[in-house]
Amino acid sequence: MSAAATIYNCIMKPLPTLFLSHGSPMMALAECATTQFWRTLAAELPRPRAILAVSAHWDTATPAASISAQPETIHDFYGFPQPLYALRYPAPGAPDVAQRAAQLIDAAGLGPTALADRGLDHGAWTPLRFMYPAHDIPVTQLAVQSRLGPKHHYDIGRALAPLADEGVLILGSGGVSHNLREWGSVAPGAPPPAWMRDFVVWVRNALESGDHAALIDYVKQAPHAARNHPADEHFLPLFVALGAAGANARVTRELRGEADRAIALDGYVFESASASA
Ligand code: ZN
Repeated sequence: MSAAATIYNCIMKPLPTLFLSHGSPMMALAECATTQFWRTLAAELPRPRAILAVSAHWDTATPAASISAQPETIHDFYGFPQPLYALRYPAPGAPDVAQRAAQLIDAAGLGPTALADRGLDHGAWTPLRFMYPAHDIPVTQLAVQSRLGPKHHYDIGRALAPLADEGVLILGSGGVSHNLREWGSVAPGAPPPAWMRDFVVWVRNALESGDHAALIDYVKQAPHAARNHPADEHFLPLFVALGAAGANARVTRELRGEADRAIALDGYVFESASASA
C-alpha cells in the first residue's frame, strides 16, 4: 500500500460509494434536478484522490480496468446533436488505481482482470462533468460483465471495498431502469408508467432495508424486472457500489422521482456501517 493510502486511512473515514443513473447521452448538456443532484453531491463529498468509474457502457467477458494515463473522451453514441461530440473530459488517468483494483479482484478469485488502454465513455464522463467540472481528479474505468449477473458484481464490489478507505471514489454509473425500446411510449413530462414505478420503488425499499439478497435475486423477485432491464448491464454497476459499501451498507442520500420519459434517474449514496460509527 502506498504512503498516500496510509495517510488517508489515518485521517479519513471510508468514502461513500455511489450509484447514479446517467440517463440518455443528452443528459450531458442538460440542466435539471438530476444534474443539480450530481453537482451538489460532489460538493458535499470529501474530495477523492481518484475515481473508479464502473460504467454500463464497457462490457467485457472477464473483468477489465483501464490503465490509460490520459484517457480519451469516447463518444459512444450515434445520431445525437453535434455539440455532444465536441464535449471533452480530459481528466488524468489513474493507472495505479486500476492496478490496485485488478489486484483486489484477482485476489478474491474473480479475475483475471485485464489491464486495457481505454478512454472514458459517456457513462463515466456524463456525471463527472457535472460533479468535477475542473476534470482535475484522476479517473479510471472498470468494465461490467453482463453475462455474469448481479452476484458477480456484488462480489467485485466487496473485493474493492479497501479502495474506499484509500480515498478512491467508487462510482457506479448505469440506470435504475433501462428499457430504450419503451422510451418513446411515454410522453415528455408524463408520470412514470406503473411497470417502471413499481420496479423503482421495489429497488428503493430493498436498498433502504438492506435486503441485498433480494436485490441480487431481482430478476426473480422484483416486479417487471425483465421489462425494466431487458439486459441488465445498466443495473450491474449498482451492485459494485453496494458491495463496496459492505453488508451493512446504508443509503445516506438519494435522488428519487426524476425520469426522462421511460428512463428512471434515481441515484444513491451508500455508506458502510463502519463509516458512520
Ligand atoms: Zn447508458
